[in-house]
Amino acid sequence: RFISLEGGEGVGKSTQAPRLAQAIADTGREVVLTREPGGSDGAEAIRGLLLTGESERWGARAEALLFAAARADHVARTIRPALERGAWVVCDRFLDSSRAYQGGADGIGDEAILTLHGIGSEGVLPDRTLVLDLPPGEARGREAARDGGRSDRIGGRDQHFHARVAETFRRIAAAEPERVSLVEAAGTPEMVTDRLMIALMDLL
Ligand code: C5P
Repeated sequence: RFISLEGGEGVGKSTQAPRLAQAIADTGREVVLTREPGGSDGAEAIRGLLLTGESERWGARAEALLFAAARADHVARTIRPALERGAWVVCDRFLDSSRAYQGGADGIGDEAILTLHGIGSEGVLPDRTLVLDLPPGEARGREAARDGGRSDRIGGRDQHFHARVAETFRRIAAAEPERVSLVEAAGTPEMVTDRLMIALMDLL
């Protein structure tokens, strides 16, 4: 089974991805934990181009193409082979991040992102996508605590951008309820992992 974990900055995704992978492994399955952008040699090379710390380096369209190219390599080299041997794959970010960041928040549009995904990755979709959801104010508070309160901009983008990201994730979840579950990200890490596992119950 292919599971993606999604959400905006500061929702606890990087804490939850290994916890979720472990919880699934504890049920006796082989689990491959991977993340985007990256997760294969070619995709890691593209990650180095994308995460330069200069938010203005790429325009949104070039950025969308680079994410799609990285994902194509990641699917072909890491995700598909793991699924074919019967492993579970837990992926920290996948297509829905492109739909939320470039498609929704940057205004490229959902259709263009899905077209790129069709070309790059043959449209492969997770069996379940878990979207960690927090009120944007609270996510910002967590991120600020992590950088010692450096600024109210995260990754060079302002709070309006991050509100649009969260809104697009909610819209995707509402439109595709079979695949996408919104999971409340407030509370202790243990509570959140339990909620994630409950949202996978029908697949386990
Ligand atoms: O939060 P994480 O470490 O997974 O994200 C890495 C960075 O890539 C974040 O700054 C996130 O905003 C950005 N990103 C993006 N578009 C995507 C996926 C991630 O801008 N499609």
